Amino acid sequence: MSDLLPVEDAVARILEHFQPLPVETINLLDSLGHVLAFDILADIDSPPFPNSSMDGYAVIAQDTQGADQQQPARLRVVMDIPAGSMPADAIGAGEAARIMTGAPLPDGANAVIPVEQTDQGWRSGENPPLPDYVNIYRTVDPGDSTRPRGEDFMVGDVVLPALTPIRPQEMGVLAALGYSGVPVICQPRVVILSTGDELVEVDEPLTPGKIRDVNGYTLYGLVKAYGGQAVRLPIVRDNLEDARLRFREALEYQPDIILSSAGVSVGTFDVVRTVLEEMGEINFWRVNLRPGKPVAFGHVGGVPFFGLPGNPVSAMVTFDVFVRPALLKLTSQPDAVQTVNAVLGEDLQSDGRRSYLRVNLRRDGNTLIATTTGTQSSGALTSMVKADGLIIIPEGVQYASAGEIFSVRLLRPV
Ligand code: AMP
Ligand code: MG
Repeated sequence: MSDLLPVEDAVARILEHFQPLPVETINLLDSLGHVLAFDILADIDSPPFPNSSMDGYAVIAQDTQGADQQQPARLRVVMDIPAGSMPADAIGAGEAARIMTGAPLPDGANAVIPVEQTDQGWRSGENPPLPDYVNIYRTVDPGDSTRPRGEDFMVGDVVLPALTPIRPQEMGVLAALGYSGVPVICQPRVVILSTGDELVEVDEPLTPGKIRDVNGYTLYGLVKAYGGQAVRLPIVRDNLEDARLRFREALEYQPDIILSSAGVSVGTFDVVRTVLEEMGEINFWRVNLRPGKPVAFGHVGGVPFFGLPGNPVSAMVTFDVFVRPALLKLTSQPDAVQTVNAVLGEDLQSDGRRSYLRVNLRRDGNTLIATTTGTQSSGALTSMVKADGLIIIPEGVQYASAGEIFSVRLLRPV
C-alpha cells in the first residue's frame, strides 16, 4: 500500500498549480453560472418609492374606520395613478386615488384597498372612466397593500457579496441595479480529449470492436456543471501523429486545463503518454483510490493537464476528486461537496483503497440506509444514473459491516 499516494496529498499537490483567474465584464444575459468578482452595492433604494401592491384605491386608513359590507366608507376619487406615473397631488381627508400595482403612493395616503373590496370594477384591457366616488367595504389598516420605499434594499447595502455564483435571482437583482455588464471571474476553459482506437464519434455507426465515446460527454457536462467552459475535440487515435496533432490543437484554445481520458496507463498503445512526455512534464500517480487506477497530472505546453482513466465511472469519480477542486479554485469557489451520513445496509468487502461505491439511499425515520446499486464495474455508467450517491469507504478498510456509518457523496438531492 505504501507506494499509493494518499488522495489528499494528490489534491494538495494539484491545487498548488492553480490560482484564481482574472476578472472580466460580461453581458448580463450571459452571466448565469459565472462568479461575481466584486461586492455589488446598491446605489438606489428598492423600491425607489412607496408603492401599491394591488390594483385598487389609495386611501387614508383612518377614513375607512368601521367600514363593512353594510356601512361602506364613501370616499371622493380625486386622482388616477397609472403605473409609471407620479401622483399629481396629495390626497386629503375623505379622498381616494385610483392606483395600479407598482404605482407610487400619493402623499397623504397610507394604505390601499384592493378594487375587489370596493364597488368599482376593473375590467382588463380597458380604462374605465374615473368614478366620482368609491364605496369601500372593509376597514383598512395603515400599510395594507403597500410596499415601503427600500423594502427590498437601501442605498449602500451590499446586495450581492463578491464570489456569489450568479443564478437567475442574482441576474434579476443586477438588472434592478442597472448592471448591463457584470464583473465576473473568468470561467476556466477546459479542452477535453478522448483517446482510443476503439472509440467512434457519437453520430457514427458502431462497427465490430468499437464503442462510442462516452467520456467526452460526461466530462463536458461536469466541466459546465462546475462553472467552466468546455471544448470537446475529435477522438484522439492511438498513434503518435494524431496524438501530437490533437494536443497542439488543444493548446491553440489557450485553455486553463487540458483533460484527457484513457491512454495513460501502461498499455502497449498508450501513445498519449509518449506525446505528453515530448510536450511537457507529467507525473503518473498511483493514487489510493478506487475506482481510478493511474491518474496523470502535469503540464503540457505550460497548461495544467489531467489524464483520467478510460472507464466511464472512473473518469467521473476522478474528475470529482481531482479536477473539480481545481476548477473551483480557479473561480475562488469553496470546495463544498454535498455529503450526508448513511448507515450501510449490507456487508461490504473493500480492498484498503479509498473506495467510492454507487449506492441508493432509503430513508428510515431519521436515518438514511445505503445499499449498493448492482454491479460496481467501473465500465457500467448506468450505475451512476441509478445511484443516489457514492458511499466513501475510507482507506485501510477491508471489511465494512451492515450498520456502520459512512459518508455518502450525493449525486442527487435526497
Ligand atoms: P484505457 O484507459 O485506455 O485502458 O481504457 C479503459 C477502458 O475504458 C476501456 O474499456 C476503454 O474502452 C474504455 N474507454 C476509454 N475511453 C473511453 C471513452 N471515451 N468512452 C467510453 N469508454 C472509454
Ligand atoms: Mg485505450
